[in-house]
Amino acid sequence: MALLHVVVLLVLGLLFLHAPSCSVATDTVTPGNGLAGSSRLVSNNSKFALGFFKMDSKSFNYTNPYTYLGIWFNKVPKLTPLWSANGESPVIDPTSPELAIVGDGNLVIMDGATRSIIWSTRANTTTTDTIAVLQNDGNLVLRSSSNSSNIFWQSFDYPTDNFFAGAKIGWDKVTGLNRRLVSRKNLIDQAPGLYTAELQRNGVGHLVWNSTVEIESTGEWNGQYFSAAPELIGNSDNLTTFRYVNNDREVYFTWILHDQTMIVLSQLDVFGQGLVSIWMDESQDWVTIYKQPVLQCDAYATCGPFTVCNEKNEDPVCNCMKGFSISSPRDWELGNRRDGCTRNTPLRRCRIDDGSNTDLTDKFYAVQQVRLPNDAMKMQAATSEDDCSQVCLGNCSCTAYSYGKGGCSVWHGKLTNVRQRSDGNGEILHIRLAATEVPRAARKNSNAIGIGAAIGASAAAFGLMILGLMIWRRKEKWFARTQLGDIQGSIGILTFRYVDLERATKKFSEKLGGGSFGSVFKGYLSDSFTLAVKRLDGAKQGEKQFRAEVSSVGIIQHINLVKLIGFCCEGVQRLLVYEYMPNHSLDVHLFKASDTVLDWNLRFQIAIGVARGLAYLHTGCRDCIIHCDIKPENILLDASFVPKIADFGMAKILGREFSHAITTMRGTIGYLAPEWISGAPVTSKVDVYSYGMVLFEIVSGRRNSSQEYFNDGDYSAFFPLQVARKLLSGDIGSLVDANLHGIANLDEVERVCRVAGWCIQDSEFDRPTMTEVVQFLEGLSELDMPPVPRLLKAITGGSP
Ligand code: ADP
Ligand code: MG
Repeated sequence: MALLHVVVLLVLGLLFLHAPSCSVATDTVTPGNGLAGSSRLVSNNSKFALGFFKMDSKSFNYTNPYTYLGIWFNKVPKLTPLWSANGESPVIDPTSPELAIVGDGNLVIMDGATRSIIWSTRANTTTTDTIAVLQNDGNLVLRSSSNSSNIFWQSFDYPTDNFFAGAKIGWDKVTGLNRRLVSRKNLIDQAPGLYTAELQRNGVGHLVWNSTVEIESTGEWNGQYFSAAPELIGNSDNLTTFRYVNNDREVYFTWILHDQTMIVLSQLDVFGQGLVSIWMDESQDWVTIYKQPVLQCDAYATCGPFTVCNEKNEDPVCNCMKGFSISSPRDWELGNRRDGCTRNTPLRRCRIDDGSNTDLTDKFYAVQQVRLPNDAMKMQAATSEDDCSQVCLGNCSCTAYSYGKGGCSVWHGKLTNVRQRSDGNGEILHIRLAATEVPRAARKNSNAIGIGAAIGASAAAFGLMILGLMIWRRKEKWFARTQLGDIQGSIGILTFRYVDLERATKKFSEKLGGGSFGSVFKGYLSDSFTLAVKRLDGAKQGEKQFRAEVSSVGIIQHINLVKLIGFCCEGVQRLLVYEYMPNHSLDVHLFKASDTVLDWNLRFQIAIGVARGLAYLHTGCRDCIIHCDIKPENILLDASFVPKIADFGMAKILGREFSHAITTMRGTIGYLAPEWISGAPVTSKVDVYSYGMVLFEIVSGRRNSSQEYFNDGDYSAFFPLQVARKLLSGDIGSLVDANLHGIANLDEVERVCRVAGWCIQDSEFDRPTMTEVVQFLEGLSELDMPPVPRLLKAITGGSP
């Protein structure tokens, strides 16, 4: 019985291939001994098969006339093509194709009746004595029959949408060959589609749309990892190894699967999402363990022009805008949304007419709560909403405008990447329609599209999918029992059933902690793998915290952020499942009498770790995330006391293109920056402030708010003030927690105190960024003496 129920949103799961029945089981094509009909090659280890296939289109009500030559997993009945030779030149019914080696030694697909060539390896063969072998790694190799190292052509050099273990993505700098992944055109057509994942010659990974728009970049390789994807450390565990090579001859990355019995699919799908799936023998199905971006709406232009993407990931994800209809229903249904939607009625202004009937002038229709399309043109001159709409009406190619905090923006031509938001941060997009398309009542600020709930956030670098390739460790015992394998160390989030979590937590019996929005319980997946399950209560508020957590920590990974394994969202139940942290939260060690006292070295490492985690949140991922509730309770410690920032219930995601400020109050008294209290918009510097307060507590081992500091209305003992004083007098040693008995590196203590002093400055502009904090703590840059914040002075009623 499966402990975990994994919801696989894999559209590919709907597709079944006609798996040709086996008649020949050799791995080699030789001259005079080709392949036709349902015969196929099977690799020596029986893992891969090669033959002609046809995608089943029954579920779409179309007959599919296309046959391809391709490679798939031999043992997977729901076959999924991993590679196809002739995506661009399919064999069309009723032609029956043959695969053969021809006179010049090349491998070709030919028309069985006319013998005309449909596809060829077109290699410069130096011998006509060649054979084609389907190797154990799934690579089809055309080579000399006598010398196996004399290779003329190989399928690994021409990947389609799957990244085989052992294959390279990147450049052969000598021959100029570029191996890259290309998504398929639609769910049944193997022709190249719109999304490409490749390395540039400089070694930076890119995801590109329609050969023109760069969607994501991995950043540069710094010797250990890609700068925009720090979680991908070169080597991982004993199951997979990730490798990056850049020398005079080539630049590429590859991954190696150590356990060859595992069946892993790593794919760039038709919607622009990267997927890693594992075939589960027990359930006879694919389980997606990783998806990037997590939400389809985050995939660039996934719905095509003039659509609104529904973040709820409910069916249908893509909808036409008001006044538009699906351009090609067949393509749409097959997952090819390239043409999106088309206007039902042409725009009046753009037709030749006398313009006399003003009632027929184009109108605007307001689409509420959306994320605006890319490529806005700012119109500084338009200073009112009316001006803005007139600017748009005055230009024939203008299709929409928006007037908001940033002034007037207009768009020309196709509108793409519009999506519905539900977090209250959406804007109003006024789309231009022919007058007859706009209901009279809706002509001013109508509620065009309802507000949907969403778990929305842009995802971190796409590189994760192709590079990360799950650090998936399998533990036989549990694997057998749960059908899912050990999720420890895997990437991607899972969906759990409530009953399974109830069982894992023994009916929520072992409480680990609780906060304002729910309780956290210990759970067991296996003897060796422990979970922390957070159950949110309070219907409305819980929902908000739940979404905040899933959309922030669910999509990013960093060694100093707690890892979200999955969630459960059933009826009113909202649960979050984390990796269990055996060493509790930092407050327990700092403030509660515990047997073990954290030594200075650990404290210093914790301070740096938390700073790194925050620096990553603020700048490392594509959208800036502000945690908003940094305090010792929300810093967990793993078995080796590596700190992990937890509790993203308050977190706020700010897209780079939007303002970096928020205004609704979040957080905990004692760690709140002054701008929270004054009501001014806040930025990531509020986390810097809270972090500074935590640093003081790490040094002192006592809460800054501790009563002992505030005797008789005299606040001069307030720890941050003591620090300010003692930094000046040079008496740093006396600041350190007495439990350390004077054993501490005073250089580091002073550095921490100075950093803390700067972090709690009144003005956010005087505070360092978290990236700078890391550098200061690591001693990479020097720091002046911090001035005493005015607000601190104020509470003590004088100077220190
Ligand atoms: P809240 O929003 O209720 O504050 P938190 O995520 O901060 O929720 O969790 C509350 C407490 O539960 C933490 O302070 C900690 O003691 C415990 N806890 C949370 N997550 C874990 C975990 N992954 N492992 C161990 N204990 C945890
Ligand atoms: Mg908490």
